[in-house]
Amino acid sequence: MAQSAGYRPTRAVIDVSAIETNVNNLNKHLPAGTAVIAVVKADGYGHGAAETAKAALRAGASMVSTATPDEALELREAGIASPILVMGPSPIAFAEEAIRRQITLTVPGLDWAEQTVESLKDSAGKLHVHVKIDTGMGRIGIRTEDEAAELASLLGSCPAIQVDGAFTHFACADEEDPTKTEQQYNRFLKILARFPDRPPCVHAANSAAALRFPEYALDAVRFGISMYGIPPSSAIASRLPFPLRRAMQLETETAYVKQAGRHETISYGSTYEAPEGEWIATLPIGYADGLKRSLRGQQVLIRGQRAPIVGTICMDQCMIRLPGQLPYGEPVVLIGSQGSVEITMEEWAERLGTIPYEIAVTIAGRVQRQYVGE
Ligand SMILES: *Cc1c(COP(=O)(O)O)cnc(C)c1O
Repeated sequence: MAQSAGYRPTRAVIDVSAIETNVNNLNKHLPAGTAVIAVVKADGYGHGAAETAKAALRAGASMVSTATPDEALELREAGIASPILVMGPSPIAFAEEAIRRQITLTVPGLDWAEQTVESLKDSAGKLHVHVKIDTGMGRIGIRTEDEAAELASLLGSCPAIQVDGAFTHFACADEEDPTKTEQQYNRFLKILARFPDRPPCVHAANSAAALRFPEYALDAVRFGISMYGIPPSSAIASRLPFPLRRAMQLETETAYVKQAGRHETISYGSTYEAPEGEWIATLPIGYADGLKRSLRGQQVLIRGQRAPIVGTICMDQCMIRLPGQLPYGEPVVLIGSQGSVEITMEEWAERLGTIPYEIAVTIAGRVQRQYVGE
């Protein structure tokens, strides 16, 4: 995460000890011998990839994973020396650099494998790969037992490629009904059986499956959203095997306070007329920070109480109704807790018709990240 000068009080405070606690608790919950792969794609779900990767590795994660080659390179630049798996498709042109930087790539299909084998035919190095098997996600991966057999023999004949692992991804593990997850798991094992040598690291579970179905943990789980303390869905939230600790708190301070006069309107469009005498504060956070314009009406926390955003949310600022006269510089929490009151990413997500994952990655790069708990 790029460092800002830090003059603006709007910040995402990331408690890395929460990440360590979540990884530790997951390790205790999983069968002995199951490794944790810390998923830090999309800048660690908005929490900062390098810092969260370090926390997860301190807590015993054995590998980190990203979505893209660039994200993997960023981690190497930041000094992360652990194995790194790029879970998404990588261009074949990246294979040589992946060998040099010891980055493990995902084999998304037969064509990719054929072209990579061809491109590495004169290479003296070794590309480490995990094979992706599509058992019902419908995204990337080989889909049949025959493809598995063909891929295994193709990769087995290439001295520049080493198959370290194989994985699949569940489409519905966060839902109430376990049927599809069970089907995908069984299909995965069936396709996998066509590899003459079982790859050393076989994995399937995301956060939802790791928490709910430890019996599907295999050699490793890919721990994403819940490593940051966020339940993947309400179905999983209601059956958590251990409490999750949320790592991110989004905070600011009141930047300006005034008392509304007669017929005073607030913000663009003049759509909110403050009752005379109402105390209004301006917050230095707006939709360019991830406080989506459609979050109008959402509450924030001030002095341990809820206060609503009034009027249109601007690009860089918004206004709230205060419970009474308060000074400027007063701490405000947009996501997180103050006293005994809490606003979660799930609350924003519900208002916006989305999932908490999207909220986490929507907190903009402009918002300074402040790391605590080290
Ligand atoms: C993002 C991702 C994960 C992590 O999923 P969570 O639900 O955040 O735990 C795991 N595997 C793959 C392939 C992913 O793309």
